[in-house]
Amino acid sequence: MHLNENIEAVIEAPVFQPGHVWLAGAGPGHPRYLTLEVADAIGRADVIVHDALVSEGVLSLAKTADLIFVGKRGGKPSVAQDDITTKLIELAQAGKRVLRLKGGDPFVFGRGGEEAEALARENISFRILPGMTSALAALAAANIPATMRGISRAITLATGHAAGTPGDLDWKALAKTGEPIVVYMGVSTIGTIARLLMEGGLPSETPVAVLMAATTPEERSMTATLATVEAEIERQHFAAPALIVIGRIVSMQTALSGRNR
Ligand code: SAH
Repeated sequence: MHLNENIEAVIEAPVFQPGHVWLAGAGPGHPRYLTLEVADAIGRADVIVHDALVSEGVLSLAKTADLIFVGKRGGKPSVAQDDITTKLIELAQAGKRVLRLKGGDPFVFGRGGEEAEALARENISFRILPGMTSALAALAAANIPATMRGISRAITLATGHAAGTPGDLDWKALAKTGEPIVVYMGVSTIGTIARLLMEGGLPSETPVAVLMAATTPEERSMTATLATVEAEIERQHFAAPALIVIGRIVSMQTALSGRNR
């Protein structure tokens, strides 16, 4: 697939050379959130190495490329990061145009930095193609502004993956800023995160939104408070992939819902 010629002329994408690896973000799920250059690259790649978060709709744009899945599926453990980088290097050295496609943006909790580092070490040419990180699409879908004058002055994108383990980020310090936080990969650790944020001074009634599978057919969302979110996630069977938005900004949703089509 090649996009129409006007678009190709306007995006001025560099030539996708054999033996090069492009590390690209596929956006939150729905193909409409692909950037033009990533959509174009999908049509030019010889091989696409993708994660579980890259949707069927996005992959359906690949007419000729071989698809290699390196994500987690059906409860099986994910492919080890070293094996993924080895695969990228082998494919590039075999002269393929390799598109490494990740959910959201490759540099936002996507381990794109590690993969780029490994390619650089092997003298393999690469480019980074940004994608829309899931938080931005999910906030838009939920009518929650990421920043809002009078309510917030910053927004933190945090991973909940290691919450409560030694060396994890300082949730209590984040609480003290009073600014909104979007937690990636936090469904199973939200109890710990909520406790630490409350210990850090956030009120237990702070509004929280859980945004699941944004922009996909499985999309669901709910609101709760810091005190109730863990129990509500369990009761309503919310599961990954989901983002947890914490802060007064969540209450804007009520004001904006209804007239937003
Ligand atoms: N690079 C990705 C993040 C990868 S980490 C990005 O920029 O979005 C995986 C986590 O991303 C998931 O556990 C979930 O927290 C979040 N995520 C990815 N896609 C999502 C979606 N469509 N809806 C909600 N959360 C999503």
